[in-house]
Amino acid sequence: MYIDGCWVESETGDRFKSYNPASGEIIGEVPDSTASDTNKAIQAASNAFAGWSSLTAYQRAEFLYECHSLMIDNLETLAEVMTEEQGKPLRAARNEVRYGADFLQWFAEEAKRVYGRTIPSARTDQRFITIRQPVGIVAAITPWNYPISMITRKAAPALAAGCTIVVKPAEATPLCAKAVFEIFDKAGLPPGVANLITAQDPEPVGAAMMGSPEVKKLTFTGSTEVGRLLAREAGFQLKRISLELGGHAPYIVCRDADPVHAAKGLVLVKFLNTGQACISPNRVYVHEDMMEPFVGELKKRVEQFKVGSGLDSAVKIGPLVNREEYLKIDAQVRDALDKGATLVAGGTRLTDNNLHKGYFYAPTILSDVNASMKIYREETFGPVAPIITYRDEDTIVENANDTNYGLAAYVYTRDLSKAFTIAERLNFGIIGINDINPTSVAAPFGGMKDSGIGREGATEGIEEYLEVKSCGFSI
Ligand code: ADP
Repeated sequence: MYIDGCWVESETGDRFKSYNPASGEIIGEVPDSTASDTNKAIQAASNAFAGWSSLTAYQRAEFLYECHSLMIDNLETLAEVMTEEQGKPLRAARNEVRYGADFLQWFAEEAKRVYGRTIPSARTDQRFITIRQPVGIVAAITPWNYPISMITRKAAPALAAGCTIVVKPAEATPLCAKAVFEIFDKAGLPPGVANLITAQDPEPVGAAMMGSPEVKKLTFTGSTEVGRLLAREAGFQLKRISLELGGHAPYIVCRDADPVHAAKGLVLVKFLNTGQACISPNRVYVHEDMMEPFVGELKKRVEQFKVGSGLDSAVKIGPLVNREEYLKIDAQVRDALDKGATLVAGGTRLTDNNLHKGYFYAPTILSDVNASMKIYREETFGPVAPIITYRDEDTIVENANDTNYGLAAYVYTRDLSKAFTIAERLNFGIIGINDINPTSVAAPFGGMKDSGIGREGATEGIEEYLEVKSCGFSI
């Protein structure tokens, strides 16, 4: 753990292990912290707040630039740690490190643009101005699927705004978090400004964070279930919250779409990170006239994928994170097949050539999927593309909106007016139009409905860590 600028053990001296999901091998150990360790980290963040928040934005930006440059210098090492601990292929891991570093640079720059306003008053002897100031101590809880960029996506805007932070990463990826904090340490961040707590059981750490009146803000990425629970606890003390939760992204292929472009896009986004992404398409609506060319292209591409350890440069699909995820995905596939879905590709766990050591799932395509199947409603965190054939374009938006989630949606059409109308009617926070990567450090990321509250990245990202103060002057 990293508390008050020092690498420390937990007060009990207990540690827990981190595993390589491709081989099951132990790759490291980290301290297993308690609620009392968490309180120490919160205290350190609290002690550091006055000093850090009174630096100029330019001074804070210098630290973030240094973190950015160290992250780029250490790109290869960070990517290797990520592939070993989280499983994604090295190329994808390198992309994630670059994406993670981008947040440090972007928010170093945004720190300097935390503007206030002057507001006309109705009184001749009065003037109003607003200033924006850091919310205070931030608790950040991050997931395992993007184990480096989800830390910087939260830490960079928080630090840029002048907040101090305590981060608790997922129990499956503590070594990635440690690698990020080694960079913060090397960059010379003042003690207590950024603190890291690792724990095998997240519950007491989360409870300590939410129970502390010192913590003014929770930023969380993970499941809707845990997000809701933490939000309830945060609500009692009226802490600010940003939640980036689950998704069930529709992927609409209209009658006039380019089927090859749409199939190529689906292959890229659906199987990215072995389908373990909250913006991964979970229901693919294909117009009946497009089914043959679209599914043909999809099948051809999917069958070329090599599945295996991410350290092998030919591998495109790595392992699932653990047995639980495998069981959930396999149950969804079985349920769909039992209820009449057609298996176009995949549909099984892969165990040959040493793959039995991890949980590898064959890239899978199901067609004839319908609303009675679990896969139609439950988030699928795996390499399974469920296809629903449709005929009536007038009802497609209604069907796509028929989910409690509202994170990402994708539309493929060559008709500009249709693209606009559909995008406006979809109840999702991020829309890709003929585009599978509608995310960037410069664009706001976040969801509606059960997919969360608030936005990360972009100019909106720093707002989440700022309070607006209104000052009225009598002159
Ligand atoms: P996933 O299903 O993606 O693992 P989770 O919501 O379980 O999503 O995990 C996301 C993050 O939330 C992880 O860092 C995990 O340790 C943390 N977490 C899970 N349960 C709790 C809890 N009760 N209190 C605080 N953090 C939690």
